[in-house]
Amino acid sequence: MASSTRIVLAQPPFFRVFGSHNNRGPLELAYLARRLSDHGESGSILNLDRTDATTHCTWRNLFARSPLLHAALDGRSALLYESAERILGLAPDVVVLSAGDSLTPWVDLGNVFLAARLAELLRRHGIRCVGIGSRFSTAPQVRAAFDAVIDDVFGGDAVAAVLPGRPAPSFVPWAPAPPLLSADATGSTWDVVLSSFGCVRACSFCDAAAQTYRPVPPEVFAADVEQRPGRDRLDIGDAIFLARGARLAALGEGLRRAARRPEFSIELSVDQVTPGRLAELVSFGVVEVKLGIESADDSTLHVMGKRQHAQQIRAACDRVRDHGLRLTVYVLLGGPVPEPAVAALRTLKLCRTLPADDFVINVWAYNRPGAQPTDSHFSGDLVEEYRLGEIMNEFFALQAPAKPSIGRLLDIA
Ligand code: SF4
Repeated sequence: MASSTRIVLAQPPFFRVFGSHNNRGPLELAYLARRLSDHGESGSILNLDRTDATTHCTWRNLFARSPLLHAALDGRSALLYESAERILGLAPDVVVLSAGDSLTPWVDLGNVFLAARLAELLRRHGIRCVGIGSRFSTAPQVRAAFDAVIDDVFGGDAVAAVLPGRPAPSFVPWAPAPPLLSADATGSTWDVVLSSFGCVRACSFCDAAAQTYRPVPPEVFAADVEQRPGRDRLDIGDAIFLARGARLAALGEGLRRAARRPEFSIELSVDQVTPGRLAELVSFGVVEVKLGIESADDSTLHVMGKRQHAQQIRAACDRVRDHGLRLTVYVLLGGPVPEPAVAALRTLKLCRTLPADDFVINVWAYNRPGAQPTDSHFSGDLVEEYRLGEIMNEFFALQAPAKPSIGRLLDIA
């Protein structure tokens, strides 16, 4: 039976701090909403990073606007007050605030210090504040700003953290089920599905390895795809898409039963790109591969813990394109590597020769010595720290003016 606890699951603003937005639905919160629903509780998802904008600024713009995050963390922030106003208007008893997304920690989706400032505001109103998200792992000192922090959305403690008054034995283990998208009260875009959680790799700059690898049952994956009937194209947001052979066939059979066959984009690592696997993926409906090449410098790849060598990258990219697939390349610059500027130059030279449709250019921001509250994948401070100022414009010139998932990008200087 449902209790009278009013629960709000909020994704605080992050891209809005930089004058942009993120309309994608917060997946981890939707899985938490499902778990609460399994226990007879309902919560409203508020994506406070969503706007009505129909275009996005460029990655170059985000880097240039880094001082805006400083201002939001150090001074008074209109976005914080606005977020508090929107949450308080729902008169919640409990607010869950995300800082990043533990299910997709390789995507930069939130700032834990900003979430903590919002929690401090809300707690003054007697509201229980619970934190969740990948960024908590890199800033444990911030936990004090919350009544509790959820470390594993599927763990036995997750529901208890939100509803501490309930006796623990009443919380049952998670049974695999699709995220509860209907809990969203803000009209987010739900175009990311997961066929597995966690990652079997352990790259040193990424939090994914902290998560247990859990494949999603094929029927649950199909049900998740089925609950997005208006979408002809979906991102499979797995860390790297491992399904092949019998597992891929089972996922395909689940979709066939559900009479749904959208196109998919997936993420692969360089060493996974073999002709046999690509042929299987094309048959499954994959139309785009995102490849984390990260660097063309072997000593940098070694520090990153990537299981690949620079000389493998070109062949992998060529194979993807030879199979008629769209190719997006992910690059990670800087970090605690011997010579970041030299590595960046080497990477730029390689990127200029790759047959990619688009490049995403990030700087190494997390899991590094000397971490700062303002760290992000598009931090102008880190560009300076890694002495990459000269070369960044060359990288930005590689980026496409539009993306299939979000449309046009405009340079709004
Ligand atoms: S392959 Fe490496 S970078 Fe990608 S999700 Fe796994 S651990 Fe993270």
